Amino acid sequence: MKNQLAINGGSKTMNKKFVWPVFDESDVDAVTEVAKSGAWGNPDCTGRVAQFEKEFAEYCGSKYAISCVNGSVALRLALIACGVKPGDEVIVPPYTFIATASIVLEANCVPVFVDIDPETYNIDPVQIEKAITSKTKAIIPVHFAGQACDMDKIMEITSKHNLKVIEDTAHAHGGEYKGKKLGSIGDAGCFSFQSSKNLTSGEGGIVVTDDEGLFDMINSLRNVGRVKGGEWYEHHNLGCNYRITELQAALLSKQLARLEQQTQLRNENGVYLNSLLEKIEGIQPLSRGRGETLHTYHIYIFKYDKSKFSNLSKKEFASMLGAEGIPSFMGYPEPLYKQPLFKEKNFLCYAIPEEVNYTDVCCIETEKACYEDAVWIMQNIMLGTKEDMDLVAEAILKIQQAVNS
Ligand SMILES: *Cc1c(COP(=O)(O)O)cnc(C)c1O
Repeated sequence: MKNQLAINGGSKTMNKKFVWPVFDESDVDAVTEVAKSGAWGNPDCTGRVAQFEKEFAEYCGSKYAISCVNGSVALRLALIACGVKPGDEVIVPPYTFIATASIVLEANCVPVFVDIDPETYNIDPVQIEKAITSKTKAIIPVHFAGQACDMDKIMEITSKHNLKVIEDTAHAHGGEYKGKKLGSIGDAGCFSFQSSKNLTSGEGGIVVTDDEGLFDMINSLRNVGRVKGGEWYEHHNLGCNYRITELQAALLSKQLARLEQQTQLRNENGVYLNSLLEKIEGIQPLSRGRGETLHTYHIYIFKYDKSKFSNLSKKEFASMLGAEGIPSFMGYPEPLYKQPLFKEKNFLCYAIPEEVNYTDVCCIETEKACYEDAVWIMQNIMLGTKEDMDLVAEAILKIQQAVNS
């Protein structure tokens, strides 16, 4: 049986190749048009850049959008514009990409890790309140994998304690919580257009907000501290050049036109794949909360119980699944606070208080997700057909039968 596994030279369960990004001649034409015009840059953030910002703000149901070089910068500018001061604490989950926490340090603030809810892998609202101190100024909930955080509870807690809410929507373009687009619920929503993300121009980022003050400040910070109505060589704030190009904006407008349909398809396939995988012993798809959300499935995550797979490690399991033609991955190997950056406090010139120490931090659910449970399937397969989803389940069953025989 074992030699029928693709990893041992057997035939693959899935032979289709899943590409990302999806594009056609119209995307190429849009970029070519800009290339031929010679107007590649856009120091005034007008033209196609402004046009895309308008389209994206409208799509999210937000008043304003400010594009910038990447999702990390989007988060950092939003945090700084919220008025944090050195030494302020910012609550973040430890099961996320490094940028969610590192940009807090880059604003001279202190990331405070709050564990995830094992049902959803999003920050656990029950634990947020316990982490709030007199120094807490903001929270960065991450809609992890594209699944909406419990925003009603988060907004209730944060309004009680007067905290700013910056949604990390790097996985959640087009996702919804109770009919509202993710990113449009907190004070600001920050998106990434990096090449793996559900909306991409290779690199890029954007902040959406309804707050005119935040909009003006972020706009200034991404454009070397210039202000509305000011002169070209007149700089008011400590910003930098974080602008995107016309080439990126042209591509983003084309890609945005596909986003809603792609998100609906991933969501439908996700619901269907859940129904298949929950029947497999030792496999448990993550909960979809109360079902009032549109999940973007930037990552499709399920929990793996090795005791039902002859104690095969999840790393080996993910490699076997990958060999079967299902783009899969074991996900983050460790919680963020175990990264050398935090353990060794390699904070360079940033003014982080001496007493800050991450060696004793322990978020049990995040550790369990990293070390034992979480297996990730990448988003492009979620754009496949129902038959492709059937093959995902088939590949998992094939591995289970082989290792248990
Ligand atoms: C990708 C990502 C970011 C950062 O975006 P970049 O464009 O790579 O800077 C931030 N948060 C999360 C959760 C991400 O996955």
